Amino acid sequence: MAEFDVDLFVIGGGSGGVRAARIAANYGAKVMVAEEYRMGGTCVIRGCVPKKLFVIGSHVHQEIEDAAGFGWSIGQVSFDWATLVANKDKEIARLEGAYTTNVEKSGARIVKTRAVLDDAHTIRLATGEKVTAKYILIATGGAPNHGPAVPGIEHVISSNEAFHLKELPKRIVIQGGGYIALEFAGIFAGFGSDVSVIYRGDNILRGFDEDVRKHVRAEMEKRGITIITGCTVTKVDKHGRDFTAHLSGGSSIAADQVMFAIGRHPNVKGLGLEAAGVAINPANGGIQVDGWSKTSVDNIYAVGDVTHRTNLTPVAIREGHAFADTVFGKRPVQVDHATIPTAVFSQPEVGTVGLTEQEARAQFAHVDIYKADFRPIKATMSGRDTRVLMKLVVDGASDRVLGCHIVGDAAAEITQAVAIAVKMKATKADFDATIALHPTASEELVTMRTPTARHVRQAAE
Ligand code: FAD
Ligand code: NDP
Repeated sequence: MAEFDVDLFVIGGGSGGVRAARIAANYGAKVMVAEEYRMGGTCVIRGCVPKKLFVIGSHVHQEIEDAAGFGWSIGQVSFDWATLVANKDKEIARLEGAYTTNVEKSGARIVKTRAVLDDAHTIRLATGEKVTAKYILIATGGAPNHGPAVPGIEHVISSNEAFHLKELPKRIVIQGGGYIALEFAGIFAGFGSDVSVIYRGDNILRGFDEDVRKHVRAEMEKRGITIITGCTVTKVDKHGRDFTAHLSGGSSIAADQVMFAIGRHPNVKGLGLEAAGVAINPANGGIQVDGWSKTSVDNIYAVGDVTHRTNLTPVAIREGHAFADTVFGKRPVQVDHATIPTAVFSQPEVGTVGLTEQEARAQFAHVDIYKADFRPIKATMSGRDTRVLMKLVVDGASDRVLGCHIVGDAAAEITQAVAIAVKMKATKADFDATIALHPTASEELVTMRTPTARHVRQAAE
């Protein structure tokens, strides 16, 4: 009789868990996956995918506005929120089905229930059933932060609810200045809502390149989004169907919805981590792991948002895959968390890979900046008041391109391709040797010849 019921028990059927389960099963392991909500996890059900569908839908109004300059006259247009939500739900249900089928096809078994740890080799299902496993993978993801507990917090929605609103809010207040706040600000503004973004610091997108932060803010403001900085929401009142968001400065804003997008926390609560001896990383509240995604317990691993490393889908997938290769494929793989490209699907988009100017100047003695801030070709005929930002951060000593930052249409698509070059440690000379593809916005990346700034740190005497 086998020592354990299964070789691998995966808790969580999201990006990381699904990939790990499928790959481990392909290697011949007996795998069980528990999912308490819907297969596919955050990214598929209430993250990247529905968000991108909403971004695409909300961008249409801009296309319509821009069309006039190209000779189009478009009559009365209208938008129906309910149709958008219903069609999005249909697509998400299709994807959920595809995720389920793919896991089952790999030979892994799905149990649709909550699972927690009883000890280092035993999992307890919500049904009361216990399953023993040689290895356990925790891939339970994360959830929206609700705090601080301001009066009226019960009236505040998170991104989870934003995907299922019965009506498009005519006015929405969104607290936060990161990915989700800015993406939803663009979505709601695109569909015609009056949007106010409330951010506690001096400018949105803390941690991004300073030029990117200034540029995206200015562009969002040009599109009619109000961005109030140095301020928080201190109280939310409800009167009938309306809300008032009170701000720390003493003013208030009337709204049909108030949304907080103030970060996410790892799903570690009530998981039985203590019973199994799994340690939490005191620095970030996620499960503590080493470079192999192994926890403090030898047979228990954790991947994705629950480890609170880099909370992005492709990273969770890569970590899940590397875990399965290492443990079941006899192919030890560590994930390289350096130089991960990322995009904020705000409108306009932000695409970034590698070091910001500020990071580069802290790490390198000689940093050259190549920056282009220009009117895109489409705007010359549409008449839209908009500008694109392209910026390369280069190590002046080795000529290596350390970072690339773009704000403008297709920034995410461009950044994915540039990320290959940056990851390969391409030099500015390699960029210069590449012939431009004309007419594009991204040709600027291979035609910027003269540094717009040069920062040379003098060696200490
Ligand atoms: P998840 O995908 O969250 O999966 C965890 C799963 O575990 C969930 O399905 C949950 O129900 C289940 N679970 C939890 N506890 C238990 C339990 N005890 N028992 C059983 N099941 C359990 N990333 C990008 O790269 N690009 C984007 O554009 C992007 N957009 C986003 C937009 C939004 C609004 C949000 C919220 C996130 C976005 N992300 C994006 C981040 C991305 O969704 C996450 O990084 C990714 O989903 C993490 O995958 P995961 O496997 O770690 O966890
Ligand atoms: P972010 O960390 O991106 O942004 C959180 C924002 O909330 C920051 O502006 C932060 O301010 C602010 N904030 C934090 N705590 C408080 C508080 N107590 N009161 C007021 N403001 C506060 O988190 P998101 O929620 O936007 O997204 C979560 C994560 O999901 C992202 O970090 C990313 O990893 C992932 N994601 C990725 C996307 C993509 O790839 N396109 C899209 C959406 C999410 P401050 O900067 O001052 O700390």
